[in-house]
Amino acid sequence: MADGDSFHFEGIEIAPGTGAEVSLELGDGPAGNPRSIPVYIMHGTKPGPVLALTAGIHGDELNGVSVVHHLIHGDDHIAGTEDDRIARDELAGTIICVPVVNIEGMLLEQRGAPDNRDINRLFPGKEQGNQSQRIAHALFQSVVKRADFLIDLHSAPHSRTNLPHIRANFDRKECMELARAFGTHIILHSSGPKGSLRRTATNDGTPTILLEAGTAHRFEMDAVHTGIEGVLNVMGHLGMIERVNQLPAVRLLVRRSKWARAESGGLLYSLFNVGDHVKKGQEIALVTDPLGEQTHSIESPRTGVIVGLALNPLVRAGDPIANIVLCSAKKWKRAQSEFNAEDPEEESVDDEEAVDDD
Ligand SMILES: [Zn+2]
Repeated sequence: MADGDSFHFEGIEIAPGTGAEVSLELGDGPAGNPRSIPVYIMHGTKPGPVLALTAGIHGDELNGVSVVHHLIHGDDHIAGTEDDRIARDELAGTIICVPVVNIEGMLLEQRGAPDNRDINRLFPGKEQGNQSQRIAHALFQSVVKRADFLIDLHSAPHSRTNLPHIRANFDRKECMELARAFGTHIILHSSGPKGSLRRTATNDGTPTILLEAGTAHRFEMDAVHTGIEGVLNVMGHLGMIERVNQLPAVRLLVRRSKWARAESGGLLYSLFNVGDHVKKGQEIALVTDPLGEQTHSIESPRTGVIVGLALNPLVRAGDPIANIVLCSAKKWKRAQSEFNAEDPEEESVDDEEAVDDD
């Protein structure tokens, strides 16, 4: 892109150094109301890459929605004031923000679209397909095809929570560069489920990483702040903003992790939280009968960090309780306490189970 050129999106012209609201039209709804996906574009004054941010593709996963809100408007939710994190007149390149892809799913407080399909299994979508395929198609053609890089923001489903971590395909160099720049302690490997935005966009030439942070139906500000800082880190890495990136002293590259599972059903009391370090054989949860009497305890199958945790107290035999990534206590303590590392120490972890539910 030449210096000083406007950015054109869906018939709207966005001048250099400005931001604009636009929308992706999806056709009329049942009441004849026009349906659309709201999009906000920040277009810088200097040449640079096009970065797309997508959130709410699962309509009940809201932390990413708040991440995008804060990047557009700053803490006061008013763009153009002093707390804006991204100054339009100093930005190099362009950011396409899609705070809620699955807007009707959000209104219904559910993961899927109104037809209950998971949009994140339908990419690149179909122009003449069903309603969910058309949403995927509109996003893919208008946003993904325009973007040089993409960050897709998610949380765990409503029955679980995740320590904020990045998921990326370790076998794609461009994705790993973004994943490392984002700056979470933990990066999980997977190419993404078939038909997912991450996998399809990456294969189509737009390197994509995914943030998993917190749980559904909430704005959890710790998770939101990890997302904000991570996106700004990536933007700094890509030369879109001036920034001294805050990277952890230690990062764990996890090819596979392991879930501790319930041996039998009952009501679950977790004794730890995500981000806690546990030892092999340590009691991490207990299960009771309906009167509250303990029937058995769940022990950690390894020494490591809890990155995923069940929130629903109702468990059946075999249900996943805690996802634990191998790590020594000493190393995790250092990972928590030191920042600003120019060249973080990396450890590869390869366990038994792959994760592929984003
Ligand atoms: Zn999701």
